[in-house]
Amino acid sequence: MCGIVAYLGDKQAYPILINGLRRLEYRGYDSAGVALLNEGALTIHKCQGKVSDLEAHVNGHGHQGTLGIGHTRWATHGPPNDINAHPHQSTSGDLALIHNGIIENYAPIKEELRSRGHVFHSDTDTEVLVHLIDDIQRSEGTDLAESVRLALESVVGAYAIVVLDRKNPDMMVAARKSSPLVIGIGEGGEHFIASDATPIVEHTRNVVYLEDGEIAVIDRQHGLKIRNIKNQVKTPFIQELELHLEALEKGGYEHFMLKEIHEQPRSIRDSLRGRLNTATGEVVLGGIKDYEQKFVQAKRILIVGCGTSWHAGLVGEYLFEELARIPVEVEYASEFRYRNPIIHEDDIVIAISQSGETADTLAAIELAKGRGATIIGICNVVGSSIARVTHAGSYTHAGPEIGVASTKAFTAQVTVLTLMALMIGHKRGTISGGRFHALLNELDAIPAKVEAVLRNEAQIKYIADIYKDSTNALYLGRGFSFPVALEGALKLKEISYVHAEGYPAAEMKHGPIALIDEEMPVFVIATKGPSYEKVVSNIQEVKARKGKVIAIVTEGDTVVQGLADHVIPIPETPEPLMPLLSVIPFQLISYHIAVMRGCNVDQPRNLAKSVTVE
Ligand code: GLU
Repeated sequence: MCGIVAYLGDKQAYPILINGLRRLEYRGYDSAGVALLNEGALTIHKCQGKVSDLEAHVNGHGHQGTLGIGHTRWATHGPPNDINAHPHQSTSGDLALIHNGIIENYAPIKEELRSRGHVFHSDTDTEVLVHLIDDIQRSEGTDLAESVRLALESVVGAYAIVVLDRKNPDMMVAARKSSPLVIGIGEGGEHFIASDATPIVEHTRNVVYLEDGEIAVIDRQHGLKIRNIKNQVKTPFIQELELHLEALEKGGYEHFMLKEIHEQPRSIRDSLRGRLNTATGEVVLGGIKDYEQKFVQAKRILIVGCGTSWHAGLVGEYLFEELARIPVEVEYASEFRYRNPIIHEDDIVIAISQSGETADTLAAIELAKGRGATIIGICNVVGSSIARVTHAGSYTHAGPEIGVASTKAFTAQVTVLTLMALMIGHKRGTISGGRFHALLNELDAIPAKVEAVLRNEAQIKYIADIYKDSTNALYLGRGFSFPVALEGALKLKEISYVHAEGYPAAEMKHGPIALIDEEMPVFVIATKGPSYEKVVSNIQEVKARKGKVIAIVTEGDTVVQGLADHVIPIPETPEPLMPLLSVIPFQLISYHIAVMRGCNVDQPRNLAKSVTVE
């Protein structure tokens, strides 16, 4: 959600900013802009649309300067249009500012500033910041950094900002609260600032993650200096990036999403690497070692997440209850935080987020932490906010996920949850040694079985072609396959804008069955397992009403083959591991339907990758 990129150095900033904004496109946005400082002049270009529209708008004019800021906006306050696009400028024209987040108390500040002569142009909450900083500079006579600090003292909300000042042509000031910022330190005093490391990695591997409440001042003479909002000096902690540039390229695939679907044998292997040892019969999760005992003794597990991560959490519920016999509640982070949840000190809270920056999940963590629970994070982005604020955690190691619709991050989250549930179940003695070892071996075999599912892509594409014009779809599954049905429906909605609903298969007769007619494709997970016969009956019910059934079945199944319109066979695996295989055909179906419908698969409309606003 929203991208920030900034540069100060010897090179021309504009190409670096544009390239950086392209790297950030995956986060989702609706307008883009840049501001450049050159020989005492501040030039701003901004417009609604894509980064390519911005380039066309700039059209080779006014793009000089070795200091600049760039932004992709994901509108929260005011429609996506040229005026609301960032950067925003002070009335004097001296300051330019970009912002990610929401200024909650913008209305009274705006009123006050208007009465003091500041002229507002946009509908955004952001614009108050630039006028406020300008106002403080003038009335208090403070320098840019101190004016930013004073301005932020009176602001309520979430922000990552970068500010330029025409009067200080060798400096940029950045600050963050609840919204990520990374600073890259390059050669010969050059510095980069970005919402995540993707625009930085091709320039330098040395980065500093700005902490909440910190303000970074970068100038040509003194380099990077950090202090916090209370004006205490902080020492920058320089880390080396683990990210590699190849991971950010499409590698020959038409879309990032397709590449990421096909990466899953590798990404699941990476999630398992060093953690699963079939030879010694061990699961080792180094990141939660110190809290293992608490976990083993937990009376209850709460899992919080949003979207696809919430679906992974639901699979986690089935896993922990089945294998570790610990009661689990799975909560939407956004609901959890705004009711008055009952949280005990011996609760384990597992927070799941691909980006590690999801605002609702972060807020849920703070709430649970404040009430004494132990928080375990599962996230993909190393060094992200969730990774830092949780007591312990496990990275998913899926590698950068650029496609907005999550695929490999989901299977990696489920892989980590499976490892956790197996480890805790084994330590609690709730799973027999024989079953534990069998499941370890089966889990080890999953990447190869995912490869086998992917080899069926041509058949899945053929099915996608038949149903590409449907306007609705139902997804059904039972047990471990129920969350996968939800995830399948979400994938279709997200990228092809087809209305889809996921249901536990048995619930169909309590309502959704009314929707079934010959136009309705019903995707059913009918793999061999404890509820197989029941699902077969549900398929009969759909067929009796002329619905079209597309069933995911275990290889060799002939019963469903005789009933369904289409079957997609997948390899056999024990039920607790089935989500790792059964979700793959749904990802591919959604991908191909979206492509056939002409949708922008990697950047679906209205969606953002890293949802850093509440
Ligand atoms: N709230 C700001 C706006 O609507 C910033 C949105 C963003 O994070 O891109 O302009």
